[in-house]
Amino acid sequence: MTVIRQQDLVETIAGALQYISYYHPQDYIVNLAKAYEKEESPAAKDAMAQILINSRMCAEGHRPICQDTGVVNVFLKVGMEVRFAEPDGASPSLSLQEMVDEGVRKAYLDPDNPLRASMLADPAGARKNTRDNTPSVVTVELVPGGEVEITVAAKGGGSEAKSKFAMLNPSDSIVEWVLKTVPTMGAGWCPPGMLGIGIGGTAEKAMLMAKQSLMDPIDIQDLIARGPKTTAEKFRVEIYDKVNNLGIGAQGLGGLTTVLDVKVLDAPCHAANLPIAMIPNCAATRHAHLVLDGSGPAYLDPPSLEVWPKLSYNPVGARRVNLDTVTRAEAATWKPGEVLLLNGKLLTGRDAAHKRITEMLNRGEKLPVDFRDRFIYYVGPVDPVRDEVIGPAGPTTSTRMDKFTRQMLAETGLLGMVGKAERGPAAIEAIREFGAVYLMAVGGAAYLVSKAIKGSRRLAFDDLGMEGIYEFEVKDMPVTVAVDAKGTSVHQTGPAEWQQRIAGVPILQ
Ligand code: SF4
Repeated sequence: MTVIRQQDLVETIAGALQYISYYHPQDYIVNLAKAYEKEESPAAKDAMAQILINSRMCAEGHRPICQDTGVVNVFLKVGMEVRFAEPDGASPSLSLQEMVDEGVRKAYLDPDNPLRASMLADPAGARKNTRDNTPSVVTVELVPGGEVEITVAAKGGGSEAKSKFAMLNPSDSIVEWVLKTVPTMGAGWCPPGMLGIGIGGTAEKAMLMAKQSLMDPIDIQDLIARGPKTTAEKFRVEIYDKVNNLGIGAQGLGGLTTVLDVKVLDAPCHAANLPIAMIPNCAATRHAHLVLDGSGPAYLDPPSLEVWPKLSYNPVGARRVNLDTVTRAEAATWKPGEVLLLNGKLLTGRDAAHKRITEMLNRGEKLPVDFRDRFIYYVGPVDPVRDEVIGPAGPTTSTRMDKFTRQMLAETGLLGMVGKAERGPAAIEAIREFGAVYLMAVGGAAYLVSKAIKGSRRLAFDDLGMEGIYEFEVKDMPVTVAVDAKGTSVHQTGPAEWQQRIAGVPILQ
């Protein structure tokens, strides 16, 4: 019988969560660096460069890769010869869920590297932040032996939001379903990343397999080199090839690499069913694997920084924009896919602020902030530490703000928006009608972006915390023109162009 102190599990979970908040898995960096080298789409290459530079900065600075530090997913394989105990050997006072949550609390409230608390209780009602990112989602399996195998992941909300499930007919094509579904996911899952696919079992088993498959290291190139043997392996290679041929590219800008790997787990299922689940993992791929054997907490060794390519961010020819003087006529000259460096005062606000603004507009109340000819950044940053102006502050998914966009443009005089991923048809039409623009920052480059923010002051809606309205002073903040004043969306033109180009470009090594 192995005795494992409950505090050892708490410490192990806390240490792992801090570790994955600033260290990408090495396999992700190695494979992203290779994809960066072979990328031919300038916009996608620029996005990949930002993700790689951001990742190295986070590894060096021990600050989060992304402002969304995720919902904690923990998979425990508990040996049947394990007994949890207090330090004095007494029965544990906490359940397994409580032990893991204690580790989550300790990690997310760490004063040296506080992580953003994103979990809301009463999801269909008050949606109140639990303030320590608990509860986590814990999956436990009882296995033979005297050890506890732990997999810890922090899953971003943007990629989790694109999870898909279908109960196919047994005669339906799995590959066809994937190829039909991936384009509907847009770019809010911050590619390049991975697709986790669960085939078979039952509805909930397929979803769990899809999530669990994402915990394995990226190894598709090895699989391609040795040749697939099982049905699952054949699907991996075929889907990897065909999804990349869609030309979606990094951040949906169009390019050669959309996925760095495709994982497939399968299980037997009922003769009448073919359940399939697909969950993407984003540019902030974060997971770690540890084992407790009763000898104390387990910690991971810091990786060698030699793994990260030494890149510097230098967008040659990028246009500098002064946000304090920019006019609608000037913004109308910006081209889709063009990289801009923003300077000056940038407002912030996301879901809750937009909801409050539109409620005030509908009641005919005066807004606390003048939006005329200003730009708003959809962001919810991590709290700053030490001499930081702001913690990691990357963009959030803009489509969530689509339903507010027409009213914002029509009634406040807002000139532009900065967020991540594509806009929907109604928002694009409103942008075209009002001669506004939509700019895209790179999801998964949050620490890099935060370094361009030189000042921050709160302007309104104090009670909304990180969702309130701030005014940032930015210097050379990199963005890409995603919808121009004529309503041309780079998320439509980019993938369409690269899908055609890929047809004549060999992309598999
Ligand atoms: S990289 Fe994108 S999807 Fe992933 S956590 Fe960050 S913002 Fe969310």
